[in-house]
Amino acid sequence: MTGSIKKLARKELIDMVPYQSARRLQKADGESSFSNKIWLNANEASGTGDYQLSADCINRYPDFQPNNLLNAYSEYCQLPVENLLATRGADEGIELIIRTFCTAYQDSILICPPTYGMYAISAENHGAGVVSVPQTSCQLDVEAIVNKLDQVNIVFLCSPGNPTGNLLPKSQIKAVLDAAKEKAIVVVDEAYIEFSAQDSIQTWLGDYPNLVVLRTLSKAFALAGLRCGFTLASPEIITLLSKVIAPYPISAPVAELASQFLTGTNLQLMKERVQQSNSLRKDLSQWLVSQDWCSEVFASDANFVLFRTQYRSVIFDGLKAQGILIRDQSKQKQLDNCLRISIGSEQELNTVKQAINQIIDQTVAVQTAQEV
Ligand SMILES: *Cc1c(COP(=O)(O)O)cnc(C)c1O
Repeated sequence: MTGSIKKLARKELIDMVPYQSARRLQKADGESSFSNKIWLNANEASGTGDYQLSADCINRYPDFQPNNLLNAYSEYCQLPVENLLATRGADEGIELIIRTFCTAYQDSILICPPTYGMYAISAENHGAGVVSVPQTSCQLDVEAIVNKLDQVNIVFLCSPGNPTGNLLPKSQIKAVLDAAKEKAIVVVDEAYIEFSAQDSIQTWLGDYPNLVVLRTLSKAFALAGLRCGFTLASPEIITLLSKVIAPYPISAPVAELASQFLTGTNLQLMKERVQQSNSLRKDLSQWLVSQDWCSEVFASDANFVLFRTQYRSVIFDGLKAQGILIRDQSKQKQLDNCLRISIGSEQELNTVKQAINQIIDQTVAVQTAQEV
């Protein structure tokens, strides 16, 4: 194991043997098919009963990393399965990385707000500290991050960023990775990478043993309800994370469904959905830019647009009263008066635009009347 990775991991994990489930032992023995043997080693039922489920052998525990799913994602992302860990959403990936590399009440993570909220929440849940190095105009403060690297075990970067939507410049990510080489794990959260024209940072995995990339099926693949994500990293990091993850994190129906959505015509459908979303995002951004009540529209490489307006609360409340929910981001650092709209269907977005126009017209009319 690389010295620096071993040094960063919680000490008790280095020699820990993960829970030896019946399924794991079986796999180590090269057994995968249930049909040719009598399996009486895991207290499972012997028949599938009357369930109308398509997953094979629903009466059996699944593999801790189902082969069909890993092979499908490996094919999709063009990385060997040794570099992959399937998780219950990218959120579980975040939690596992923190539980693997932070000793509670001792170690800390670094975040660059405004950013995705789960990094800090997972850290706090685990008893890890959170060091904040705010972004300036959607750019990393690389110098400040580098200065804090001795205080933290993990750096979380999000590109494209949530809730801002921007890609981080690759030169900045590289500068952080170079400085962190012997010091910290650098996580690049790519939950929205499919919506971006820029290549994934995953091609750098070979150069940086401390790099971890997070992916999900919740956004571009339109499968948030499945709870399936992937952590991409060096085999040694994957081995460490595998000691912390639950023994059967991915249920058999999830593995089966997700594998289907990662292949063939379904992949093509994903790409078409992304194109449609990107074209609607462009329309929405242009519309927002042309509105005089909107003071800033953030550049987005994701499936949402963040904008700033002095009418934040009337817009948010007015839409809510009509049963239209958008996200208020104004509590985040540097995002005063900012709202975020997810790219829904064309019809949904037209309804939102009409509703906002109406709300603004009414508000301006009331203001004018009061001034008179
Ligand atoms: C949505 C999101 C996630 C979590 O995705 P799941 O796979 O649904 O857990 C992680 N990171 C970012 C930046 C997100 O926006």
